[in-house]
Amino acid sequence: MGTLLNPDENTMPMEIVTVPCLSDNYAFLCHEPSSGMTALVDAPEAGPILNALKERSWTLDQILITHHHDDHIDGVPRLVSETGAKVIGAAADAHRLPPLDRAVAEGDTVMVGQEAGAVIDVSGHTVGHIAFHFPGAGAVFTADSLMALGCGRLFEGTPAQMWTSLSKLAALPPETRVCSGHEYTAANARFALTIEPANSALADRADRIAAARAQGKPTVPSTLAEELATNPFLRSGLSEVKSAINMVGATDVEVFTGIRRLKDAF
Ligand code: ZN
Ligand code: FE
Repeated sequence: MGTLLNPDENTMPMEIVTVPCLSDNYAFLCHEPSSGMTALVDAPEAGPILNALKERSWTLDQILITHHHDDHIDGVPRLVSETGAKVIGAAADAHRLPPLDRAVAEGDTVMVGQEAGAVIDVSGHTVGHIAFHFPGAGAVFTADSLMALGCGRLFEGTPAQMWTSLSKLAALPPETRVCSGHEYTAANARFALTIEPANSALADRADRIAAARAQGKPTVPSTLAEELATNPFLRSGLSEVKSAINMVGATDVEVFTGIRRLKDAF
């Protein structure tokens, strides 16, 4: 450590560990070194998460839940009974989540030690889906809202709701790491190339994705900058995307709706 460091910057960044769960889910451990606090984002199953904690000798303090689907909450009861972690989730979903120690909504802040995370409502995939943005760590946990090269299916919300949610995420700093909930990226790339076959950043990314998957490596997290350059759902407002799918003159939401429909049928 140098002696000329600004004292405000003389803290280690929050460490983020991706934990593969089930067949294609990701959970994330967030460890804030100055306090030793550890939070988990989503709990698809307890086993791999308990192993990842044990390997690092970390104690789980909090579980942050993004939405109510089983593949994001099934591990909660065992993790709570084995670690005593406190559970934080959306107030709007309190009736269908495991018992919450704290119910939050957009505008609230969660703390992992000294690291603050802003709660963002990203309804669309479900109504009540939230994301957690940690600006100090440069990471946003989006689960099944904004995903690597895709977005979640609209099981509960409207296209307009999802478009509003994606627009909030698109406005975060471009270097933000997007920690999403599933390894769907290779299939998403095949679809994205049907929308924008001439997007060279997308073609490059599709190659990198194929190479990573061939080696069994995760494609999550991505960066927001990559998503802005290649994710067809985030790019619904761009004139080149509108013309690529013959929707020149349509509104951004109409184009997003059209792309989501094409993906559902892909
Ligand atoms: Zn889901
Ligand atoms: Fe999911």
